[in-house]
Amino acid sequence: MAMLRHARSGWIEVIAGVMFSGKSEELIRRVRRALIAGRRVQLFKSHLDDRYGGQFRISSHDGRQIDAEPVSNSTEVAEKVHPETQVVAIDEAQFLDDGICEVADALADARMRVIVAGTDMDFRGEPFGPMGLLLARAERIDKLSAICVVCGDPATKNQRLIDGKPAPAEGPTIQVGGAESYEARCRRCHEVPKRDRAQGELVLRRGEEGWEGV
Ligand code: ADP
Ligand code: ZN
Repeated sequence: MAMLRHARSGWIEVIAGVMFSGKSEELIRRVRRALIAGRRVQLFKSHLDDRYGGQFRISSHDGRQIDAEPVSNSTEVAEKVHPETQVVAIDEAQFLDDGICEVADALADARMRVIVAGTDMDFRGEPFGPMGLLLARAERIDKLSAICVVCGDPATKNQRLIDGKPAPAEGPTIQVGGAESYEARCRRCHEVPKRDRAQGELVLRRGEEGWEGV
């Protein structure tokens, strides 16, 4: 039996989807079950995520518990994983660099189960950070949806709002400590203004004033 367990190969599973779709809840559920199974688990989360006030602890009913280790890049994940670890869970992976793909592959090659949770689309609906690449490499993918706060349909998009209004596409993908907020919305209710009117007019006027060839 022990030999069988040892012979098993590792793999990558990705929990993707919009904000508020329950990715963290699902990650916690999987980690809790791995703890119940007696697996040696390590949990990481991006240092950019402060939803838990710096604390992210998962406990199982039998009293076992682990704390999330904050990481700022993929190299830190690689350095912090102990060789005897069996399950590596990473939350908010969209904030990490593309190197997390190679790290996840290397850990899976080393027979570890790698569970990665993250928002796969940014507020524009484009692939977010390394998530697209991770989805391509994963053995198993679950894409969760939330509820559209406008119409109640399944939500698949992240709506960024600034002062309650849809934020323009030009903003930075990651806004640290900004005054913006987010909502889960369906495709129909998702709004990303391409460029605000004043900026568009400015570009036109510059054209008229002979900016061609500059
Ligand atoms: P994620 O990690 O995907 O951002 P969480 O696991 O942190 O999601 O939170 C999921 C929980 O958020 C849901 O169980 C629900 O209680 C709550 N929630 C708040 N807003 C919404 C919404 N618009 N749609 C679905 N769930 C929502
Ligand atoms: Zn909607």
